[in-house]
Amino acid sequence: MRAIALDRTSAKPVLRDDVAEPHLGAPDDLLIKVLEVGICGTDRAIVRGEAGELAPGADYQILGHEMLGEVVEAGPTAASDYATGDLVVCTVRRPCRLPECPTCAHGESDMCYTGKFTERGIFHAHGYMTSRVVESTEFTVKLPPELRPFGVLIEPTTVVEKAILESVRVQHRLDWVHHLNEEGAIAEDWRFVRRAMVAGAGPIGMMAAFLLRLHDVETHVTDVVPAGGYKAALVDSIGARYWNVAETPVAEVARQTGNIDLIVEATGIAPVAYELLTALGVNGVLVFTGVPGDRGGEFQFQGGHLMRQQVLWNQVVIGSVNANRSYFLHAVKDLGEIARRWPDALAKVITAHHPMENFETALTTQPKDEVKAVFDITPSS
Ligand SMILES: [Zn+2]
Ligand SMILES: [Zn+2]
Repeated sequence: MRAIALDRTSAKPVLRDDVAEPHLGAPDDLLIKVLEVGICGTDRAIVRGEAGELAPGADYQILGHEMLGEVVEAGPTAASDYATGDLVVCTVRRPCRLPECPTCAHGESDMCYTGKFTERGIFHAHGYMTSRVVESTEFTVKLPPELRPFGVLIEPTTVVEKAILESVRVQHRLDWVHHLNEEGAIAEDWRFVRRAMVAGAGPIGMMAAFLLRLHDVETHVTDVVPAGGYKAALVDSIGARYWNVAETPVAEVARQTGNIDLIVEATGIAPVAYELLTALGVNGVLVFTGVPGDRGGEFQFQGGHLMRQQVLWNQVVIGSVNANRSYFLHAVKDLGEIARRWPDALAKVITAHHPMENFETALTTQPKDEVKAVFDITPSS
C-alpha cells in the first residue's frame, strides 16, 4: 500500500509503497478507503522540521490530517450506523485518556490538559495520506453523498467552527446575547457577531468567511494581496468585503466599518496577529488560530494603549487549536448549507488536485493563488 510519509533518517517526505494494509481490530472499527487529503500549512511546516513529531522509535510517519474517505468495511458494532460506501471524515486528535484529564474524558481532546494526546499525521501517529486506514466510529463522522466534492474541506472548517463557537460562548457574559434566543440554544447563536473581521485569506480564513456569511454576519477579510485578484474575487462573491492591508491598515479598516465584534486570526504571523487588537471593537473577541514558529516574530507595540483598551472595552483574546468531534458535526451541517448556497465559490476554494507522485512539489511549494490544494489518494473513476 502507498503512503506519503516523513522519513526519520532523511527528515524528508517520501512516497512509500511498502506500507502494510490495515485490518479491522475493535468491533466499532471502520476500514476506510482514503479518497482525498488536503495539504495545509501544518504539513508544510512538518516537512520543514518546524512542527509535529514522529512517534518514538518510528522510522517514518504518514503525513496528512485533512481527510475524506469511504467506508470499505464496518466492524460488527460500527455496522449499525455505517455501511460500505458511506462518505466519512475522521478527526485528528486522539485523547490522552489519563485520569487527571477531565476534558479528554468528556470528548474534548482539543482542550487536553496533559499534552499527552496524539494527532494523526502530526504528532506521534500516522496520518491519512495513504490508501486505507482503520478508525473507530468514536473519531469518525458521516457525510451526505452530495458533499463528495467538498468533504476534504471539513477539517479546516472544524477549526473555524471551534474558534467562533468558543467566542459565542464567551459572549454568554452579555445579558443581551442571552435574551437573543429564548429557546436557550445560545451556544449556537451567532447573532452577537454583527460585524466580523477575518485576517488571512488562506483556507482557514476563507472557511471562516463562508461560515460568517452563512450566519448573515457583515464580514471583512484582510490579506496582503491586491484587491481584484483570485482570493479577493472569491471573498467578494460570497458577499464579504476584501481589504488589502498593505494599503489600508486594520485599524483604519475598523475606523471605516464601525465596531468589530469578532476577529478570526488566520495568518500565523505574530506581529500581524497582535496588530489586530488595534481593530477590535467594544466587547470584542479576538481568536488566534495560526501557529507561528517558536523563534522570530519580535515586534514592538504600544502596550499601555492596548492594555488600557482591552480593559476599558471588555475585550477577550482566545487561542484556539484543533477541534473535537462535536465541531465536525457542526461543520458537516454548515458545509452542506454553504455548498447549496455558494456551490461555485466553494468549488474555487480547492485550487489544485495533485496525484500522490507530486508529493515533493506539493508539500514544499505554494503557488500565489493557492487556497486549498489536495492529494487525490484514490482518483475517482
Ligand atoms: Zn490542516
Ligand atoms: Zn487529555
